[in-house]
Amino acid sequence: ESRQFAQELQRVLELFEATCRTQEAELGRLDAVAGDGDHGQGMVLGSTGAVQAGKKALARDAGARALLVHAGTAWAESAGGTSGALWGAALTAAGRALSDDHAADSHSAVRAMLNAVDALQRLGGAQPGDKTMIDAAVPFAQTLEQEFHNSGDLFAALKAAAQSAQTAAQATAELTAKLGRSRVLGEKSVGTPDPGATSFAILMDELAHHIGQ
Ligand code: ADP
Ligand code: MG
Ligand code: MG
Repeated sequence: ESRQFAQELQRVLELFEATCRTQEAELGRLDAVAGDGDHGQGMVLGSTGAVQAGKKALARDAGARALLVHAGTAWAESAGGTSGALWGAALTAAGRALSDDHAADSHSAVRAMLNAVDALQRLGGAQPGDKTMIDAAVPFAQTLEQEFHNSGDLFAALKAAAQSAQTAAQATAELTAKLGRSRVLGEKSVGTPDPGATSFAILMDELAHHIGQ
């Protein structure tokens, strides 16, 4: 059962990689407006590194915790860039909320995702409104926690959280970037959503659909 759960997480990493590849050009285009245009490339490199590390971990019979901790390290190393370091830390933090010895119940799954968003905030130091992925990640976490508390239904909570992330990512178009590379050209970014918030929302939407299958 614990092995099956680790394999399920590996399928999520593979889904993230496939999605990053599909979105690579569009994410690069968003990042080129006020950043250096490499966000799509960074997400592809990071997710590919994570999938490869996950494969190796499974071959060693790793559990869910070890799989995500290794995948996170590999994501950060393979991607380079700000978002790579943040995604890597988020995966590793999610793994630390899980066990190698048994499958996560829905409570631990929620805890893992909240841990991941905490790590994003701690490492990046961004506040909501700075026009970063935090603008999507914080509403995602708030909705997830609240809806799961209300319904106890992981899928319903994740679906609602992904919807919040999507709405919030779109709303970053109105903001001026204050952190990261885009701060230099912050004003230029008005009218375009933040690339990191956009990719976060897209991946959480994919995750919600995947869990709902
Ligand atoms: P880089 O800026 O190093 O080229 P990417 O282009 O891959 O890295 O990622 C850019 C994204 O990283 C931004 O759109 C933003 O969402 C996110 N980002 C930048 N700085 C921070 C930060 N301090 N906290 C959270 N997210 C950040
Ligand atoms: Mg960039
Ligand atoms: Mg860069």
